[in-house]
Amino acid sequence: MASTQYTSQTDFKTSYDTLHSTFATGRTKSIKWRKWQLKQLWWMIAENEDRIIEALRQEMNRPAFETIGMELRAIKGDVVEFLERVDEWAEGDKPDAGFVMGTLAKAWMRKEPLGVALIIAAWNFPLYTLLSPAIAAIGAGNAVLLKPSELAPVAQELLVDLVPKYLDPSAIRVVTGGPAETGHVLTHKFNHIFYTGGGKVGRIIAEAAAKNLTPIVLELGGQAPVIVTKSANIDIAAKRIAHAKLTNSGQVCLNANHVFADPTVHDQLIERLRYWFDKFLENGDDSLSAIINERHFDRVSGLLKSTAGVVVYGGSTDRSRRHVQPTVVRDVMIDDSLLSEELFAPITPIVVADVDRAIRIIGSMPHPLGLYIFSQDQGEIKHILDNTNSGGVTINDIMLHAGVPNAPFGGVGESGYGSYHGKFGFDAFSHTRTIVTPPNWMETLLSFRYRPFDLKNLKW
Ligand code: NAD
Repeated sequence: MASTQYTSQTDFKTSYDTLHSTFATGRTKSIKWRKWQLKQLWWMIAENEDRIIEALRQEMNRPAFETIGMELRAIKGDVVEFLERVDEWAEGDKPDAGFVMGTLAKAWMRKEPLGVALIIAAWNFPLYTLLSPAIAAIGAGNAVLLKPSELAPVAQELLVDLVPKYLDPSAIRVVTGGPAETGHVLTHKFNHIFYTGGGKVGRIIAEAAAKNLTPIVLELGGQAPVIVTKSANIDIAAKRIAHAKLTNSGQVCLNANHVFADPTVHDQLIERLRYWFDKFLENGDDSLSAIINERHFDRVSGLLKSTAGVVVYGGSTDRSRRHVQPTVVRDVMIDDSLLSEELFAPITPIVVADVDRAIRIIGSMPHPLGLYIFSQDQGEIKHILDNTNSGGVTINDIMLHAGVPNAPFGGVGESGYGSYHGKFGFDAFSHTRTIVTPPNWMETLLSFRYRPFDLKNLKW
């Protein structure tokens, strides 16, 4: 069992001061330093893959396949992308500023690191939600304070062990703590805060950041809906929904939460969901992650017990292994317990609704991080896109928009603000400084602006 002590206020202050002093020296700004640290981070993952897989197995019975795909490969892929592109991104850009400002006055947009960035991660992907933003922060030339989730204590302990062994301790540090310790950290001024987690804490972070005018990115969650329309390929819809619900036992921020099924395809969808859950679990349910802790297990079991819908698949729970059987519930009403909050569990509530009713219900709920449309009718897809809002959308699959290279990943409204991944992450941790250098010989061109004013000189 993990035994990491939370960081004391004194140790936190030492780390905080060290990071600020290091940033002030300019050390983290050099591209050489950034690349060196990114390579070290790559090695930190590569040389410890077995330990990481084992840690997440212990933490939540996570199968190696999911840890490799959704944490290890994803983190290593981010490092490679930054190594390949950081020179170009750090160079800055030329604005489309026209002949006078752009060409003659050589306007450009310089990319500068913000300073010391605080990254606060969530438990469900305890490495990725910490290290992927860290890659962007380091790539952009910042010093970084990492705060892993205390709700994933085994992963937290591993990070406390590995980070100082691989990464420059003068510029990249880990602190640990729960709400009280994190609250103390937040009383200090940072130059950027990147938070991944629930919206309730997101508001606490935003409030603390506002006191220092600190820019933030909030990567939150929400109740991502799926719309299965009458034109959908129902077998594909059921297969992909079932697969997503089994991924980390549904404990993924942008996972499908509930399904709106058109009345004409509703029964067929349930039949195919049962088929695919059976098929995916034909070798037993050992490959299913556990619910992260007993508090979350009790929350999920409570929601399931209170549903007024009809359980047509699964439905059993086992507290001793924090196991929730993949479950399908039909005839769910919009005021049902299963629609009252983000489920974060392998439960699929199905609401009977045609496209327009689904759109109305989605509009009455907070903006989700993801929206999923199963339809083969382009007009229908456009109608849904035009009348809903969400962080991102995947059509005829679940969650894939988060993996689109060179595209932003982030929420809107209650699912957060700001984004990252690739260049968008680099920009999140950078200040774009506009610079212009009017040469002295432009004096004649600029002379119209000087006093005494003469309106004749103003062309408007
Ligand atoms: P959590 O409990 O691990 O909390 C997240 C972080 O907030 C932790 O580091 C924790 O220490 C800190 N924290 C908790 N209480 C605090 C307080 N009072 N003050 C300051 N800091 C505090 O995670 P969670 O909130 O249960 O995470 C699950 C949520 O995260 C879900 O809503 C999920 O959808 C969302 N999520 C979003 C993404 C994304 O990329 N958008 C990724 C993963 C999870």
